[in-house]
Amino acid sequence: LISPAVPRAVCVVSLGCPKNLVDSEHILGVLGRSGWRIAATPELADVVVVNTCGFLQSAVKEAYGVIRGILDSRLPNQCIVVAGCLVQRQLAALQQMFPQVEHFIGIDDIPRLPAILGRPGKTAGRPLRAPTGLCRAGLPRLVSTPGHYAFLRIADGCDNCCAYCLIPSIRGRLRSRSLHDILREARMLAANQVRELILIAQDTTAYGLDIVGRSLLAPLLRRLARVEGIEWLRVLYTHPAHFTPDLLDELAASDKVVKYIDLPLQHISDRLLQCMNRRSLRSDVEFLLGRLRSIPGMAIRTTFITGLPGETRAEFAELLEFVHQGHFAHVGCFAYSPEPGTRAARMPGPVAPATREARARELMAAQRRISLARNRALVGRTAEVRIDRFDSGRNEYLGRTYADAPEIDNTAHVRGDRLIVGSVVSASVIRAGAYDIWAESSEQGSGTRDQGVGSGRREN
Ligand code: SF4
Repeated sequence: LISPAVPRAVCVVSLGCPKNLVDSEHILGVLGRSGWRIAATPELADVVVVNTCGFLQSAVKEAYGVIRGILDSRLPNQCIVVAGCLVQRQLAALQQMFPQVEHFIGIDDIPRLPAILGRPGKTAGRPLRAPTGLCRAGLPRLVSTPGHYAFLRIADGCDNCCAYCLIPSIRGRLRSRSLHDILREARMLAANQVRELILIAQDTTAYGLDIVGRSLLAPLLRRLARVEGIEWLRVLYTHPAHFTPDLLDELAASDKVVKYIDLPLQHISDRLLQCMNRRSLRSDVEFLLGRLRSIPGMAIRTTFITGLPGETRAEFAELLEFVHQGHFAHVGCFAYSPEPGTRAARMPGPVAPATREARARELMAAQRRISLARNRALVGRTAEVRIDRFDSGRNEYLGRTYADAPEIDNTAHVRGDRLIVGSVVSASVIRAGAYDIWAESSEQGSGTRDQGVGSGRREN
């Protein structure tokens, strides 16, 4: 690796989802290991890396805006790098739009970034193949989330080929990390005070399918539960077609795997599920939900897509009625976005954009009432809240219950005295909104408000 003679500073602007955030953390890690300093903002950096998302048109537009903004305000001699999913998706278009950018790098290029930045001139870019590499525990990573939780990527790529999704062509085929490598990273994170591991992949339940032909998520969770120091394991991005009986048993029995599951369903109409190539029908989904809901305290998060080509008013009404049944603690909803290159974009019967949006709003309004009722039921009761940080402006701690993933689900606003950031406290719920609860804790912590235990950045 090439170290700059005078330590130079890099700022990474990370767009998109937690999976992209892990790539950004590896970019920071490999550069930090090569002697680079980390700058908090672009104005303080010699090099700005924009790590893009390219999943939906809205993300593409956001990335264009961010790159344009960084270029407009760039400092003399500042070097701009564009990385990530959008580079995988449309390198040639990006090169044409932003000829001032010094380097376009693909996902597999991350380990080579110090060498790329160490040589003069531009990286002209080359047609990028779908990535085949996989970040490993040995690849440096600078975790950027609050010190007590971290995302743990267990696989990359996806073989599911949902009709509306470009991810398989952007991030490549499913590649599961070895159990040994994941455990190694989990132990390093735990040794750095991480108490909650959040498992991510394009489809976490597909973990192992490319290795042994069956899901290995349940055995992985069993092994991770034995990592010393880990208190909570949380699973995001599952697929209903890949649940196994032993995974359901593990979710029910484990005292480390929180009673929470992220289960994107996308729709409930059989015809649309088939059009989407989701490989689960309504009856399969209902059976799975029944099993999940039989686990006491299980909080289920899902996402839906409204306005897929051909979605009729009756099919949307079926989805709305399904949401009204109240299966879910949390619902996210996307108005369908036609992505060139996907099968769905060629399907007949496009739904007008305004209708797609209106249906998404209607669905979210239905869930909002359910979420409000669920949260109001907590008022007067005691909740266990993990404290994520102290908000000095509001003089309160911000945290969440086991039923909430950080940055995604509900926030608990907690009044208390010197609570320890990263710890779990008992708090009496005094007020509730649709997406927040307010609570008071009489626990006496020993943390400092600014820092607490386990906060701050660290490297592994
Ligand atoms: S499961 Fe479907 S929606 Fe998710 S990444 Fe794979 S192809 Fe895309």
